[in-house]
Amino acid sequence: MRSASTKSAGVASIAVESELEIILDITENAYIVYDSDGGVRLASKRLRHLLDLDDGEWGALRDFSSVARVVVLRLANRHLPLRPPWLLWQPGNGAAREQLEMAEPGRILERIARPVIGDSGRTTGWVERYRDYTYDRDLPARLLQTDKLAALGQMVSGIAHELNNPLTTIMGYGHLLLERQLDSKALAEAHRICQEADRAARVVRSLLMLARESKLERTVVHLNEIVERTLRLCSYDLQRSGITVELDLDPGLPPTLANPVQLQQVVLNLVVNGRQAIVESARPGRIVLRTRHASGRIFLHVEDNGPGIPSELQERIFDPFFTTKPVGVGTGLGLSIVSGILRQHGGEIQVASVPGAGASFTASFPVTTGAGESQHPKPGENDRAPSSRILVAEDEPGVAQLILDVLSAEGHKVDLAADGVEALHRVKSREYDLVICDWRMRNLDGPQLFRSLGNGNGNGHVGDRFLLITSDPALLSSSEFLRETRPACLTKPFLPPELKSSVTALLLKRKNGAHPAPSGGEKA
Ligand code: ADP
Repeated sequence: MRSASTKSAGVASIAVESELEIILDITENAYIVYDSDGGVRLASKRLRHLLDLDDGEWGALRDFSSVARVVVLRLANRHLPLRPPWLLWQPGNGAAREQLEMAEPGRILERIARPVIGDSGRTTGWVERYRDYTYDRDLPARLLQTDKLAALGQMVSGIAHELNNPLTTIMGYGHLLLERQLDSKALAEAHRICQEADRAARVVRSLLMLARESKLERTVVHLNEIVERTLRLCSYDLQRSGITVELDLDPGLPPTLANPVQLQQVVLNLVVNGRQAIVESARPGRIVLRTRHASGRIFLHVEDNGPGIPSELQERIFDPFFTTKPVGVGTGLGLSIVSGILRQHGGEIQVASVPGAGASFTASFPVTTGAGESQHPKPGENDRAPSSRILVAEDEPGVAQLILDVLSAEGHKVDLAADGVEALHRVKSREYDLVICDWRMRNLDGPQLFRSLGNGNGNGHVGDRFLLITSDPALLSSSEFLRETRPACLTKPFLPPELKSSVTALLLKRKNGAHPAPSGGEKA
């Protein structure tokens, strides 16, 4: 605090002044007190900080004119005079206030003035308060944005559920068609169905990823496996585009804690971008995927020999909604999702491109340890589960029928229950080796059914014969139920091989004696 004219005298006044100085120093606001002639009696140090005054300017604050001079110098419009407090204040209005738009882009100062009234009722001076209003001014908009995001999240989750059910059925039967002996025209048409359904599923996944701010659950993952799995998902598109894929996967890559769904999204987005770039350049295409481990980090390189990226665009490609692709092909979300996912994993992504000679993306993130292997290991390619009795609780007839068809073809006996209540009745009357259950069902949903089947306290018995299906991968991290009980989960839309693999893993685990199967419904 600097005092221009202190009238204080004696020890008590000095103590009060020091206390006042401390109080003024620790508030976020800056204060100036003028006497009745407009002379500065005191100015708090915050003012110096708020206006970024140098020694000379600070020392020259003698009266309102000198204050007005330094303030106006920092305004966006330097031609606007600063009204003195006695003009700003309107009798009867209490404190008068105004907002000052500063030259620093986007910054707003709020200024309040009010008179100091002496015992005689006369104005003995003026107090001005300045504060940085930038944050508060934007607060309603930010709150609105947060509200909107929450509403969007809910809406997207609902849409995802509605779309993922038919998509699961379309993709599932499409996939089964591909395994049939079709003539080449029918095969091409079936491929087309799968390809378009896959595209729709990608859009739903992207929306869910954008709408969800919560971090997804991390488990121990092997990046090489994720790369291979992702390539299987898009192998048809790559083949059809005449693109050769070269895999150079580091066999010594350590496992790390990460979210497998998100890492798959990273690989998928980079490969899809490479494919689209190559197709556009109409030359024989090649995509190289390389994994490496160095200095405690895992590296994933995805390289293509497409047209490359002009240097002036390289900085913008990670911006949300930046796209150079036509409507219907590009959304401009792919790379921003990729970089968001990597940031969440403590990593980053870089691009290198010589225009005309292709593009190369390098994603890297630290190896994180600290948890055991996933409790639901995947079976090997040739592992087969013993023929088992399986109950499917799913209120979407298309999806239920698909699961029945896929698992019956594997030699299992499958019963269908149209909702959770029917599933509970069935489980009470006969023993099932496995219950496959949709998360969202009328009457009794997946978690409620799980809890009804046992105590759900994670003792493992019910969990070992329970496969939960969800439309929203974000639930995997945000749900209290899943954190407590950790049942095996499958996300819609899934393909028949993924369903078979999850089912086989659970049945093999039980066969190998993890836990005896409880009979009837109520036992844990
Ligand atoms: P989208 O693919 O929907 O356009 P992205 O965020 O994935 O959105 O990519 C943004 C832009 O970056 C693309 O439109 C394209 O111009 C450029 N890009 C991304 N990957 C490549 C690549 N491998 N080769 C050439 N350009 C690319």
